[in-house]
Amino acid sequence: MPTRFVPAALLLACLSIAASGALAQGADARIAQLAARQRQPFLDSLSQFVGIESGSRDYEGLSRLAALIADKLAALGGEVQILQPGSPASPDVYRMEDTPEKIGPMVRATFRGTGSKKIMLIAHMDTVYLKGMLARQPFRVDGDKAYGLGIADDKQGIAVILHALAVLQALDFKEYGQLTVLINGDEEISSPGSRAMITKLASEHDFVLSHEGASLTDDKLSLATAGIASATIHVKGRASHAGAAPERGVNALYELAHQVLNARDLSDPATGMKLNWTVAQAGTNRNVIPADATATADARVTRVADFDRLERLLQQRTRLQLVPEAKVELTYERRRPPLESNAAGLALARRSQQIYAELGRPLGADDRVAGGGTDAAFAGLSGKPGVVERYGLVGFGAHSSDAEYVVLDSIEPRLYLVVRTVMDIARGKVGAR
Ligand SMILES: [Zn+2]
Repeated sequence: MPTRFVPAALLLACLSIAASGALAQGADARIAQLAARQRQPFLDSLSQFVGIESGSRDYEGLSRLAALIADKLAALGGEVQILQPGSPASPDVYRMEDTPEKIGPMVRATFRGTGSKKIMLIAHMDTVYLKGMLARQPFRVDGDKAYGLGIADDKQGIAVILHALAVLQALDFKEYGQLTVLINGDEEISSPGSRAMITKLASEHDFVLSHEGASLTDDKLSLATAGIASATIHVKGRASHAGAAPERGVNALYELAHQVLNARDLSDPATGMKLNWTVAQAGTNRNVIPADATATADARVTRVADFDRLERLLQQRTRLQLVPEAKVELTYERRRPPLESNAAGLALARRSQQIYAELGRPLGADDRVAGGGTDAAFAGLSGKPGVVERYGLVGFGAHSSDAEYVVLDSIEPRLYLVVRTVMDIARGKVGAR
């Protein structure tokens, strides 16, 4: 940023934003002031979002929340669409064993600018909570924290995007080519209805900023996340009296035991691929040869290629049967791919770190795989855009049934961070890919 005269009133606004440190050289006082002005509207939005229950299986709640977010995005000047998974506008659905009949909608908004860079901002509106829990845990502000179910994961993320856009609007900043916002309603169930759309849209953009919350104890951007898959082996045998005619049965449990032991060594420490059998079930009665047996394994990968490698290995292994008459079926669900870091993502994270330093605040950036999977991984799947996760507020207690909160002191810094990052991308200040 060019050096400029900074009036005292603006400096005061900046000092409040950088309570934990001095404003370093280069901080933009106007943006800091506009971010500070968004604090109360931000809290009002958060209160509205927390006030609408939106569990991943609560289609009605998700639809109400989607309509509210769509209105806000339209008021900011976006071309807004509500996309229903499985409809012609968004046809690809990846159904898994826990995918609900009706998947929550997505809200997509497009803002067109005068430049060439294409930037995508993502967050999710669904939560892990069940309908009815809101009554006992409504939105509340207490001291330096705001509490509410889903407030950290990920309702704050939606608010960060909306109020960063409000700052950009106040600045009349349009130097990007296109700004796309996508808010989905199925992240907590592994994004069955939004994954294809996230990957497709992300591949049409230069950079993707994802707004999951940041850690209270270790505030850092994530460049890589683990991929998660589940493998299930189902064996179909034939029931028979275990005492009178065991020889007429086909023992599904024997075959399953063989299958599990046969596929117990597929982990590969060299690439971080892990496969562990965790759940099994067989038989119905002590005196009946079991006709059915099922086992499930948890799989983790750090490279997209290992998703395919693991599936191939499992297919090879399951062909080696102990009981020839048994029917063995393998189901392999890609719950969530890993996010692999690339040069563009690294450049984006570095630039964001420099921007945060303008506020005197440290911000880590890590390309080692850590934590659970997020939708950033679907955004990164094509390998094309630079994708960085955890632009959201600092918070605590995601997926816990009490005391989920966000830290109010991070509202203004995060708005400043996202606004300045978008501006720097638009102005070509983030390394070309
Ligand atoms: Zn989340």
